Amino acid sequence: MPDPSPAIRLRGVVKRYGDVTAVDHLDLTVPDGTCVGLLGPNGAGKSTTIRMLTAQAIADEGEIEVLGHTLPEDSKAARAEMGVVPQLDNLDVTLTVEQNLLVFSYLYRIPRTERRAAIDRALDVANLRDRRGSRVDELSGGMRRRLLIARALVHQPRLVLLDEPTVGLDPQVRQELWALIDRLRTEGASILMSTHYIEEAERLADTVVVVANGQAVAVGRPSDLVAEHAGAEALEVYGPPARLREVEEVAQGHGWPTRRTGTSVTILRAEDLDGDAPEGERRVANLEDVFVLLTGEEIA
Ligand code: ADP
Repeated sequence: MPDPSPAIRLRGVVKRYGDVTAVDHLDLTVPDGTCVGLLGPNGAGKSTTIRMLTAQAIADEGEIEVLGHTLPEDSKAARAEMGVVPQLDNLDVTLTVEQNLLVFSYLYRIPRTERRAAIDRALDVANLRDRRGSRVDELSGGMRRRLLIARALVHQPRLVLLDEPTVGLDPQVRQELWALIDRLRTEGASILMSTHYIEEAERLADTVVVVANGQAVAVGRPSDLVAEHAGAEALEVYGPPARLREVEEVAQGHGWPTRRTGTSVTILRAEDLDGDAPEGERRVANLEDVFVLLTGEEIA
């Protein structure tokens, strides 16, 4: 059987701002009912990609289809069927939680008789039912983020876009949001999420698209990407800078792939090392290894 048409399809998409090419011939597919994570460092073009999907930015080249609608021509129809969680909190702080949702229920033209149930459902998903009467400026940062997500879900969209959903939040709140996004996923929504947190992509995405300089440099399931690019094991060697340089030279001589992590050098594909391997700590390879290898970024 042929695949059902994907929720999102980008082909050869380019977006330039003056001399900067923010998105550079990007191909991207979000299969229906799956969660795709756009993982890349700051400036990789993730937000620009999301903004093109909502027609807030218009591509200079390429083709964009969202839920069967061609953008930018049919962006209104596409917008009506998707939920968008922006990176910046643009809630109306003078309104209550419930009033914020009500405004969106009008915007999405939810019939009057269905509004109350729609708002209750969104409040439930985001675990905000007992805060419905609170003004937004009385909420914690984590609650405001949850409300942003609830607001995007009020019309039960088939597709949800999340731009850096947990940026700047503490680890506990991040876990709460992950549970919420995971629930959306298991309920069958198609999701495209941008993130620069490796763990977030690894935990939530069925498919990770690693982006660097506006291009997709790797696409696959997190575990497949690790196996393909970083192998099974990594060997971490700690020591003073002179020792680390020495290890890097030895590795280079043997053609072993390495990455730096401040105080250590990590040799990838350590399962293939022979007797010349230096002393170090072995660990399982992970998506961070892939990220550093492909984007050249260092993780603090
Ligand atoms: P990310 O979301 O991955 O951090 P962005 O999409 O925000 O990346 O940015 C990609 C590149 O495009 C960056 O170099 C950024 O400075 C540039 N850029 C993004 N938006 C604009 C804009 N409105 N005007 C000029 N340059 C922009």
